[in-house]
Amino acid sequence: MKKVLLTSLMIIVTLGIVGYFLAQTMARGSQDNFFNRNIRPKISASPFWRSVFVFKDYGDARRDYLKSGAKIRFNLYYMEGIDVEPEMLEQMAAEINRLTGEDTSYRIVTTHIPYASNVVSDEIDQIKNKYEFGNSDGYSDAYVFILSEDAFNPELIGSTIEQNSMVIYNNAIKAFVGQNKQTVSPYVLSTILHEFGHLLGMEHTTESGCLMLEHAEEDHVPKRDPDDVITKFCESEVKQVEIIKQSEG
Ligand SMILES: [Zn+2]
Repeated sequence: MKKVLLTSLMIIVTLGIVGYFLAQTMARGSQDNFFNRNIRPKISASPFWRSVFVFKDYGDARRDYLKSGAKIRFNLYYMEGIDVEPEMLEQMAAEINRLTGEDTSYRIVTTHIPYASNVVSDEIDQIKNKYEFGNSDGYSDAYVFILSEDAFNPELIGSTIEQNSMVIYNNAIKAFVGQNKQTVSPYVLSTILHEFGHLLGMEHTTESGCLMLEHAEEDHVPKRDPDDVITKFCESEVKQVEIIKQSEG
């Protein structure tokens, strides 16, 4: 009898290990494979299993933000000398609330990340490790680091880091808008919203008027009028998030 138990136990452990490595392999495959589309979101829904499987790409934490009753909180970290209009933050929270249907707030954690004219990813990791603490006090936290520019890709205006964070490159946005200084704030807003769209698992779109277009302006010509900058998710994006919410309960 003991032998049967031991054998069963060994089979279960072996299956577990094989399953784990199989999952890891499939997770590294195409975003569109069956595992990544159907199974990974279920595993990632739980922060515990997400850390066991080390699923920390953009989209893996979307259930944190889209579960009903989520209290989404943006934590902002500014490099010295970077100024962000409070009104922009209000608009950001209102738009995320409209998109997700969930309560959204923000707080400025620091405005004193030491200034550097550009940053490499190691430095971003250091900054992130220094300040980030994961979800706390019942909030679903998102982390926004507003830094100068990327050392290797100075034109990059924003990118996600892992499943719950983003970097916005303020100097790159300033360089992009040139003389149209009044559009810096709307472009910062649209970049934050775009990157948060990725954190919710959204991919790039080609539909004009949407926030998930790959570039701030597809023709690379910045808008002159702040009101012309896209700072709202388009109808199909709102719909897409609704569908994710419904399908993942
Ligand atoms: Zn993008």
